[in-house]
Amino acid sequence: MAIDFSLSASQRKFQLECRAFAQAELGGVAAAVRDLPTPAARFQATRPMYEAVVREGFLRRLIPQPFGGEGTGLIDMAILTEEFYAVDANVSLTLLATLLGLMPVFLAGSPAQQRELLAPFLATTGAPLASLANSEPGGSANYAAPAPAVGVRTTARLDGDEWVINGHKKWMNGAGWDGQGADLLCVVCRSDPTAPPAQAISVIAVPKPAQGFELQRLIDTVGNRAHPAPEFALKNVRVPYDHVLGTPGAGRGIVDASFTGTAALVGIMGVGLMRAAFDFALQFAKTERRGGARPILEHQAVGYALADAKTTLEAARYLGWKACHAMDAQSPGALEVALHSKIFGSEAAVRVITSLMSVVGIDSYDHELPLGGLLQDALVLPLFDGGNMGVRRRQLHELLMSEGYQTLDASGAA
Ligand SMILES: Cc1cc2nc3c(=O)[nH]c(=O)nc-3n(C[C@H](O)[C@H](O)[C@H](O)COP(=O)(O)OP(=O)(O)OC[C@H]3O[C@@H](n4cnc5c(N)ncnc54)[C@H](O)[C@@H]3O)c2cc1C
Repeated sequence: MAIDFSLSASQRKFQLECRAFAQAELGGVAAAVRDLPTPAARFQATRPMYEAVVREGFLRRLIPQPFGGEGTGLIDMAILTEEFYAVDANVSLTLLATLLGLMPVFLAGSPAQQRELLAPFLATTGAPLASLANSEPGGSANYAAPAPAVGVRTTARLDGDEWVINGHKKWMNGAGWDGQGADLLCVVCRSDPTAPPAQAISVIAVPKPAQGFELQRLIDTVGNRAHPAPEFALKNVRVPYDHVLGTPGAGRGIVDASFTGTAALVGIMGVGLMRAAFDFALQFAKTERRGGARPILEHQAVGYALADAKTTLEAARYLGWKACHAMDAQSPGALEVALHSKIFGSEAAVRVITSLMSVVGIDSYDHELPLGGLLQDALVLPLFDGGNMGVRRRQLHELLMSEGYQTLDASGAA
């Protein structure tokens, strides 16, 4: 079968399990965190829900089979991402950020490192958190740019048989539940102060406890209000030499590869948010007359806006699935399609949810209704995981300029 968008029996089963779990366990997140005054209090309130995610095996089900989990690839992750995001973007992002934090271990860890570092994440107890710590205060779009650019500023220096890490990181879920550091930090750092980025950047695994981890603040974010976004310092954090993932200096490839799979998934996060907004707006339009004679759905302007929203949502889903499939199959055009999914799905989510707020009208401006919160959650999609302006369009631009670029690679028809 050449082109088939239908799910296999096991994928469909997984989809229904994700949907049922999200509705039962994640449906309460919004109400539980809404009136809590601080980012720390909101994050702590999600711990029971995250524990349920782990207990029900959703973390280990996304860890790829070769590393001891049950995951069969990015399509699984796309299925879960849509179902979870359609209900709650906070705990969902905590889960997906943890998987991103494990990605360098999947990609570059030795079998011994994988056995040791992944063990807590394969268990179905507790609330283990991992984090890929790349972004820094002052920006990360140019983290691997050659001199005279500064690039990544966190450093790792060898002292005997230990790395000594110093620097500041910002935004990723790296502070853990107690503010003392996540269970595993994959720290992106400069391990050679003189070499060009292709040989200077390393990813070093820092398991908890990390002496020298200093939480500075949790950012009061616009959306994902119960997902942690800390700013922290690493001060003389020491780990053994063999905690480097891959070889010293191989970090750029590891980081870029880690962020390619996520690009495909960010489009699907947008699909989940659009789906929740669409379902709400359609129901509103069917049942509300707003003082008029007929349900507002019968006004052509309303119907057309809903139709356009649905078209965009469906297109973003298929693009995201295509990107995940291309990544799983390691197709030549996989990076390009992943970038299309990230850019299109993220920007579509902001546009579509804003348009659906017009369908609902002024009541959508009340947090009692979900649309304002969904828009707040959508706003990060074009900005994070490599901003669409500073990182993702630039990657596409570089692809277009690269020698041997084939326009038909992305469609698999070159
Ligand atoms: C909820 C959340 C979760 C996150 N999770 C993680 C995580 O797990 N790990 C992690 O490392 N980070 C994480 N981040 C951080 C985030 O992904 C990055 O900091 C962000 O993607 C950096 O993108 P940027 O383009 O805005 O970079 P910046 O360097 O801040 O660039 C800012 C702006 O400058 C301009 N710009 C800069 N350089 C260029 C250029 N060369 N060409 C054109 N324009 C340029 C663009 O207009 C760009 O928008 C998270 C952030 C949030 C909010």
